[in-house]
Amino acid sequence: MPAKRCSLCATNWPLSYHYAVCPTCQERTDVVTNATAISTQEAKRMVSEIKFAKFYAEKWEPERTGPDPDEVGRREAAELARAWREVTLGFDDQSDQSDQ
Ligand SMILES: [Zn+2]
Repeated sequence: MPAKRCSLCATNWPLSYHYAVCPTCQERTDVVTNATAISTQEAKRMVSEIKFAKFYAEKWEPERTGPDPDEVGRREAAELARAWREVTLGFDDQSDQSDQ
């Protein structure tokens, strides 16, 4: 039975569009006709493990994956405040021009 094989980790994923890209390596898979694919259940279990590992890393290891969410929130709030000032300034400019 054909499978979709990852060129990096050599996992034989089931023949489905879900595995056009290897869930483990994000590498394109190639259809191999004389290979035994892992079962759909096994594939789903592996995908959920990868998702959990990613979720866990983002939740508990923010210093390894990106900036502090609080810092991101403060930056976004500052950008929103600046955008709001620009918008309200724009309205003020328009009313000034119409007064003149
Ligand atoms: Zn792979």
